[in-house]
Amino acid sequence: MNKILVLNSGSSSLKFQLFNIQSVGNNKHNSINCHLIASGLVEKIGDINSTAHLKLSDTPSGVKTRLNRPISNHKKAIETMEFLLKENNCLNTVEELVGVGHRVVHGGEDFYQPTLINDNVLETIQKLSPLAPLHNPANLTGINAIKQRAPKLPQVAVFDTAFHQSIPEHAYLYGLPYELYEQQKVRRYGFHGTSHHYVAKQAADYLGKALSELKIISLHLGNGTSAAAIEYGLSIDTSMGMTPLEGLVMGTRCGDIDPAISFYLAKETGLSLQALDQLLNKESGLKGICGQNDMRAIVERSNQGDIKAKLAIKIFCYRIKKYIGAYLAAMNGADVIIFTGGIGENSAEIREFSCQKLQNLGISIDSLKNNQRVTKQSDQSIMEIQSLTGQSKILVIPTNEELEIAVQAMKIIQKK
Ligand code: ADP
Repeated sequence: MNKILVLNSGSSSLKFQLFNIQSVGNNKHNSINCHLIASGLVEKIGDINSTAHLKLSDTPSGVKTRLNRPISNHKKAIETMEFLLKENNCLNTVEELVGVGHRVVHGGEDFYQPTLINDNVLETIQKLSPLAPLHNPANLTGINAIKQRAPKLPQVAVFDTAFHQSIPEHAYLYGLPYELYEQQKVRRYGFHGTSHHYVAKQAADYLGKALSELKIISLHLGNGTSAAAIEYGLSIDTSMGMTPLEGLVMGTRCGDIDPAISFYLAKETGLSLQALDQLLNKESGLKGICGQNDMRAIVERSNQGDIKAKLAIKIFCYRIKKYIGAYLAAMNGADVIIFTGGIGENSAEIREFSCQKLQNLGISIDSLKNNQRVTKQSDQSIMEIQSLTGQSKILVIPTNEELEIAVQAMKIIQKK
């Protein structure tokens, strides 16, 4: 039995999932048999109040083991993860793994597919850090911690930006001096690529078509939100830009705004660059509008008549609708609209508001179908919710970025 570990390493956290991968028959995604054994999280690394927990996937009650002890760095976090996995009979030692797949946020223009990590790759990820200062250095810490613990273990980087490297020049360049692209690499990169690619492949499998036959608009609506236009298997546009700040309205990020607002605020209120960064990334979006970024709570408040919550939902959904319109234009129609991410998978209200009055463009939701409940565990986890008159299929598909990373990493390791 092959076991593979997927790591998402943040600056003070380490998320991990351990999978059994039984067979990788050929390149077709659904031929890979992947089973989650356990998942866990080490939090507050570097703090005296660090915690770590592990959840076994095959216990109906979701049995959890929890530890509270200071975990001073990522090396210790890996040791703690290994201890938890051993204690629960999931894995004796990391050396038993066939490899590790890492979520790496920014691959710039250097990485357009999952990549086996070596010293050159590490150096390039490091060089790309200015484009993702919060993420790439943290991702590297996880890679280096594993490298120290088990130097021979194959490690694969799976980049959030990679799927969007097919976006053509006219869609990735901004209306800025061309030298800024040449010298500073200022351009649209796009994120959530692993999720958009995964749900697009799921949609094609579900519809019994090849991905290369379909025009898809994928809406990943979680705390971060983004839309992607996927034409015949390739991402041709996406709403996040050089950073994850652009595009749809998000939990705490503003999405598209007039860039002159920053200069205006700096001049009028004396806000520093750092304060503006904090404002636009952490204090805006849903939180900025109604004081909260948890969509489930916002929907509840809105249902009870809260005006700010209603407004936040309207703004959020109107922006989604505009992007659907833009991508219908970019691809001259869409065969499929996908809703995914915590909000996209769970909120019938948000799906309905985002598709309101799009029937003349072939997009129409059936209210009854939209209000069904499915769980990730059920066999039929994909919901089809378009009405009889709608031309585009509208699918609700649970994303699974970790599973996709495991599969992608395994493919690379097998080719080694
Ligand atoms: P992340 O981007 O952090 O991975 P998720 O994809 O888990 O986030 O999405 C989190 C968002 O999903 C939160 O805003 C949460 O409130 C929202 N959400 C989860 N369940 C529901 C629900 N039933 N109705 C509305 N929103 C929901």
